[in-house]
Amino acid sequence: MVFWNFVCAMHIKKTRLLTPGPTPVYPKALQAMLGADMHHRTQDFKNVFLAVLADLKLVMATANDVLVLVASGTGAMEASVTNCFSAGDRAIVCTAGKFGERWVEMTRSYGLDAIVLEAPYGKAVRPEALEQALAANLDVKGVFVQASETSTGAVHDVRAMGEAVRKTQAIFVVDAITGLGTMPLDIDSWSLDIVIGGSQKAFMVPPGLAFLSISPKAWAAMETATLPRYYFNLKREKKYAANGESAWTASTALMLALNEALQYIKSIGMPKLIANAEQLARATREGCHALGLELFSPENPSASVTAVKAPDGLDSGVIVKEFRQRFGSIIANGQGEMKGRIFRIAHLGYFDVADLFAVIAELELILYANGVPVKLGAGVAAVQRVYAEIAITKKELANV
Ligand SMILES: *Cc1c(COP(=O)(O)O)cnc(C)c1O
Repeated sequence: MVFWNFVCAMHIKKTRLLTPGPTPVYPKALQAMLGADMHHRTQDFKNVFLAVLADLKLVMATANDVLVLVASGTGAMEASVTNCFSAGDRAIVCTAGKFGERWVEMTRSYGLDAIVLEAPYGKAVRPEALEQALAANLDVKGVFVQASETSTGAVHDVRAMGEAVRKTQAIFVVDAITGLGTMPLDIDSWSLDIVIGGSQKAFMVPPGLAFLSISPKAWAAMETATLPRYYFNLKREKKYAANGESAWTASTALMLALNEALQYIKSIGMPKLIANAEQLARATREGCHALGLELFSPENPSASVTAVKAPDGLDSGVIVKEFRQRFGSIIANGQGEMKGRIFRIAHLGYFDVADLFAVIAELELILYANGVPVKLGAGVAAVQRVYAEIAITKKELANV
């Protein structure tokens, strides 16, 4: 293999951010941040704030209140715990990966009595298991889950889970930080009481904003919840939001960015943003199959990110490093116990098929150079086939 014996074959390498958060930023959102030299209590900014709240409600397609917090996604996760629960409350935590473990640690840190329903990495907690746990523990006040478990690329059936939780007194708290914009989530009819999103995932803006929808059932739970809280006080935020303000200093830059990204998301429409992720996810899976690679979560794959097993004898860290060093592409390694064993290809938010052509072509070269028997072009051809099939189907539909 001659072409690999030097650091980089080409002189120009663009840095491409291709991780499942932060994701590539929508360019107009980035430009909008230049307008951040403004005061957060002026009418100009209040108009932006109100527009963002209204548009989030629209794209999340919910009648529930939606609030925005200055925090990474974990801040909204923590807000849901401290605002809706009291120390000693029993809760069921469904976990199937690193982010599920975050719920376990967080609920326990705040003194909740967490019953853990665990599925192995790469799998999902079954709704029947939740239903049984709820029937056996009638005092449960909350159920926590990830819609899409970003560490493994698997999804939970939050629709069926919501049906089980609806019949109980518990509130259903869904971390949809990579679920929103990548999978259908009918918040109101599936009884998803709290649905959490983050700016740096399918919403195409830099990290720093978290948002959450809150159902009447969750607001009612807040009336009796006694955990201490200060910065994240959802009742206070709701009062301020009605007037286009946040309780504390808003992130003017990020709100301007989100406002711009939401215009773009509305112009495409949420169902098509989701379809885009699903189509790229399918093409990724087929590209990987064509290269003889094994998927990590084949049973219930997420459209946000595809986790791929590194071939035998090759550390996934080497693959990730070569993506960066040789091509400037930043892709994700496995997290926690999966580090070195899987790598993750993201396709949520501002990703297009050209991004995927590049990722798969680069992957082919990396595998080839590391002695993995792949046929150069086989993965890219699979992606092209998926692209062509989608185009043909669309044409057929248009001709009906
Ligand atoms: C990104 C992500 C989070 C939030 O992480 P932050 O670093 O706090 O933004 C939480 N849950 C899931 C499933 C995620 O993908």
